[in-house]
Amino acid sequence: QAKLEGSGYKLHDPALADTEPQRLLMLSYLRKALADDEFILHYQPKLSLTTNRIMGFEALLRWQNPVRGLLLPSEFIPTMELSDLIHPVTIWVIENAVKQCKIWQQAGYSFIIAANISARNLLDQQLPEKIGAILARNDLDAGFLELEITESSLIADPDRSFDVLRRLHEIGVQLSIDDFGTGYSSLAYLQKLPVDSLKIDRSFVMDSGQGREGRSIVGSIIGLAHNLRVSVTAEGVEDEASLQLLRDLGCDHAQGYYISRPLPVENVCAWLEDAAW
Ligand code: C2E
Ligand code: CA
Ligand code: CA
Ligand code: CA
Repeated sequence: QAKLEGSGYKLHDPALADTEPQRLLMLSYLRKALADDEFILHYQPKLSLTTNRIMGFEALLRWQNPVRGLLLPSEFIPTMELSDLIHPVTIWVIENAVKQCKIWQQAGYSFIIAANISARNLLDQQLPEKIGAILARNDLDAGFLELEITESSLIADPDRSFDVLRRLHEIGVQLSIDDFGTGYSSLAYLQKLPVDSLKIDRSFVMDSGQGREGRSIVGSIIGLAHNLRVSVTAEGVEDEASLQLLRDLGCDHAQGYYISRPLPVENVCAWLEDAAW
């Protein structure tokens, strides 16, 4: 992997940053990145399959590193998730996503904004209050914010995590289960959690174009969700055939490269004007 010029450290695959000194060094660079405002958000549109219009965006974190360029979450989020640094970074993400949502609202667009939450965030008992304060400060109705949680986030301390999620739901924030189908105990969680929507993992969505099996998995998840009165988003929609299949199966929302890649914020308005939806 490439070396960061001048500093002599390797900013490599976090899976390899397994020694304590490497991890600590990486964390110190990440802490500096937060302080120096090097994080940015890209926004990926979500298409409503009922209205055929864009109904919201998912905020996805990027690190604009002065030397390495634009870094994707897989290169730095796993390291942050092992430390308390994930707390201020998640708050930074939510604050900026909420601000942007308000800006779009003032421009006449009524979009739901989604942000991703890590397992560790759900151990922070203050999270609902912190998010409530962000919404109040930006004068945004809580119903416009959706938090995406993976099933595995709940494993560390289910009782504490459930309590935090219940309180978030009470203030009106929408909750969504991300990468649905890849974890386990999904069905048990669905019963217990105040979940508003499911996101079918892109591996199933991408397989659905290929053959019967992926297709029936996607169809089953949609049926299950609708029986539980939960809406469904398919992620990883990469072609017209998949989009059409999802429409036929009654999926509510779709997200993926075929609709749009995640966009820098300055490109969103132009994209909305040009897009087919
Ligand atoms: P995710 O939440 O499942 O986000 C979807 C990922 O799939 C994004 O990658 C997105 O760019 C990518 N994607 C979207 N459409 C397509 C498609 O049609 N085909 C394919 N192959 N990929 C598609 P990204 O932005 O690299 O994010 C990766 C993961 O990093 C996210 O997966 C999420 O788990 C995590 N992440 C991103 N931003 C944040 C954040 O602010 N906080 C936390 N805790 N995690 C984040
Ligand atoms: Ca997500
Ligand atoms: Ca996902
Ligand atoms: Ca994923």
